[in-house]
Amino acid sequence: MDFALTDEQKLMVETARRVGEQYGLDYWGRTDAAGEFPRECWQAICDAGLGGIMVPEEYGGSGLGMMETALAVEALCAAGGGSTLSQLFMTNPIFGGVTLARFANAEMRAALLPKLVRGDITFCMALTEPDAGSNTLSIKTFARADGNGWRLNGRKIWITSVPQSTKMLVVARTRRPDEVARRTDGVSLFVIDTERAGVTHRPIDKVGTHTQPSSLVFLDDVRVEGHELVGDLDGGWTQLLEVLNTERIVTAAGLVGTAELATALAVRYARERRVFRDTPIAAYQGLQFPLAEAHIETECARLMNYKAATLHDTGEPYGAAANWAKFLAGRAAGHATDRAMQTMGGMGYSREFHVERLWRDARLFRIAPISEEMVLNYVAQHDLGLPRSY
Ligand SMILES: Cc1cc2nc3c(=O)[nH]c(=O)nc-3n(C[C@H](O)[C@H](O)[C@H](O)COP(=O)(O)OP(=O)(O)OC[C@H]3O[C@@H](n4cnc5c(N)ncnc54)[C@H](O)[C@@H]3O)c2cc1C
Repeated sequence: MDFALTDEQKLMVETARRVGEQYGLDYWGRTDAAGEFPRECWQAICDAGLGGIMVPEEYGGSGLGMMETALAVEALCAAGGGSTLSQLFMTNPIFGGVTLARFANAEMRAALLPKLVRGDITFCMALTEPDAGSNTLSIKTFARADGNGWRLNGRKIWITSVPQSTKMLVVARTRRPDEVARRTDGVSLFVIDTERAGVTHRPIDKVGTHTQPSSLVFLDDVRVEGHELVGDLDGGWTQLLEVLNTERIVTAAGLVGTAELATALAVRYARERRVFRDTPIAAYQGLQFPLAEAHIETECARLMNYKAATLHDTGEPYGAAANWAKFLAGRAAGHATDRAMQTMGGMGYSREFHVERLWRDARLFRIAPISEEMVLNYVAQHDLGLPRSY
């Protein structure tokens, strides 16, 4: 067990921090208030080579792993973006990059991956449905065979960054549950153009993550070409799990960066703020202990995420560790942002001091991309061998 970073990893962290600082707190405060997509930030991330960390070198990427990805996301988010910045990595390097690099055929990889790495095209993923929710296998979106392709019909909800994306990874059934031996059979993945006849969407008003809208998506008789299938027809479930588990590592990394940032902002404020006599509020143990606790939780989440990333990179089963890391990081960021707000009193609640945005955005990740309860279900069943409760 080696906790030291390699020189290459240290360089990755430095590069990410430098780019992150160019797009710091004020940039994110402004884009959040205006509801503007952080396109120039994503372009800078790609220009610095961070958009294609895991993409094989032959397609213009760095051919590195989840560990380097986690390090870069942490550093970028800790520099000012907070957890919403990690959504840029979920949508592009994960929904786009992992899906294509691992499961697309050679033609699709060659056509799309270099563009993804350069930031020329961006991605979203349409999985969640209004009537299925966490019960992913009960999705109803169906791709009906039509000549050498398919016709897609269904409804998706909460899909991040649809208007800003070029491509959409759509998860659909190609066989109905009653036609297959196992419910996990009959699921397929498609990568289609976001702008296509039959694809419409409308934004959902929400608490935070305002730079990246979430939309209801309607798929009405959308034509899907034969070459737009990614991975195995009817066998997309295990491929989807790879996408979702790597997404959890990126989510956890963003939350660790957020927790680090929120705690740092609180510490800085507390050192300066004086309320009674000439003592800064930082001297009060009642404020110190919760910040210290948040710090310990953040470090635990960080380590668990590094473990998940390392297991992934060494080809070991990593799904459980990715779930634990995401759970811990969601709690750590929730706690750290809340304590940061409390430490800063009224100013913690003002937009000017940024913590309220970090707090709002981090809250999402106790619900999505997988809720805390579903992580606990997973642990109860798979790690503890308890009976399925639902
Ligand atoms: C801002 C935002 C962005 C998102 N982006 C995307 C995206 O880009 N693409 C995409 O496909 N999806 C996206 N999602 C969807 C997200 O993954 C889901 O919201 C999440 O998985 C939870 O599903 P749900 O909202 O349907 O909750 P539900 O499944 O309805 O759950 C409601 C509550 O019941 C609990 N619950 C459900 N089943 C059980 C059980 N068996 N045991 C115990 N508790 C249970 C849940 O934990 C939760 O607390 C996004 C969501 C949000 C809010």
